[in-house]
Amino acid sequence: MIQENIRLVREKISEACKKTAFSTQPTLIAVSKTKPSSMIMEAYNEGIRDFGENKVQELIDKYEELPKDIRWHMIGHLQRNKVKYIVDKVALIHSVDSLRLAEEISKEAIKKSVIVSILIELNVAAEESKFGLGLNRETIELVKEIAKLPNILIKGLMTVAPYTENAEENRIYFSNLLQFSVDISNENIDNVCMDVLSMGMTGDYEVAIEEGATYVRVGTGIFGDRDYGQNKGE
Ligand SMILES: *Cc1c(COP(=O)(O)O)cnc(C)c1O
Repeated sequence: MIQENIRLVREKISEACKKTAFSTQPTLIAVSKTKPSSMIMEAYNEGIRDFGENKVQELIDKYEELPKDIRWHMIGHLQRNKVKYIVDKVALIHSVDSLRLAEEISKEAIKKSVIVSILIELNVAAEESKFGLGLNRETIELVKEIAKLPNILIKGLMTVAPYTENAEENRIYFSNLLQFSVDISNENIDNVCMDVLSMGMTGDYEVAIEEGATYVRVGTGIFGDRDYGQNKGE
């Protein structure tokens, strides 16, 4: 099932790419939260090397157990007291939405002598229930502050668009995020590049790619529905 799902997702990514003016194929991040290592290995054997997790403990456990050439993406809300466990294990932290969190990442990165790549999380539809910053001047000023911190590189922006049955409804949010990344680029801030746009999930990744996504985060579309209940089996 996973093998077939990945084939399908890759096909749709290629199709979506044909409709864009962007030259590089986006990277597919397989969102493996709640899923066992055996399923991750199935995806790994199909050539997937980027996996997304949203819980620190789960990410660490899988990091220890699975092949070391996997690039782990922290895509969930990150508490400051847990930063120390992951700074040397993740390829990219997608969910930085405050100076205090960035300061903690910087501090722990210095301790472990690593440079940590991060994305700034934006709340594109200003949803109450979501984390992320507004697309405004204040956020640009915050990016300038974060950029001054040692051992951190800001690589781009990330968003979780609203849940919708109709992906077209999210097109405007994706295009707003791209525009905002251009606005930030135009500020020419040291240690900031806006190469990465992490946007698009199972329900809307094709539209996100058409609007310039460089990373798409697909969970359900690869691994099937998530079971948050207790060990109900497969
Ligand atoms: C769970 C999650 C995803 C994947 O969602 P699907 O709809 O299952 O593809 C993507 N991004 C974030 C931040 C998530 O938490």
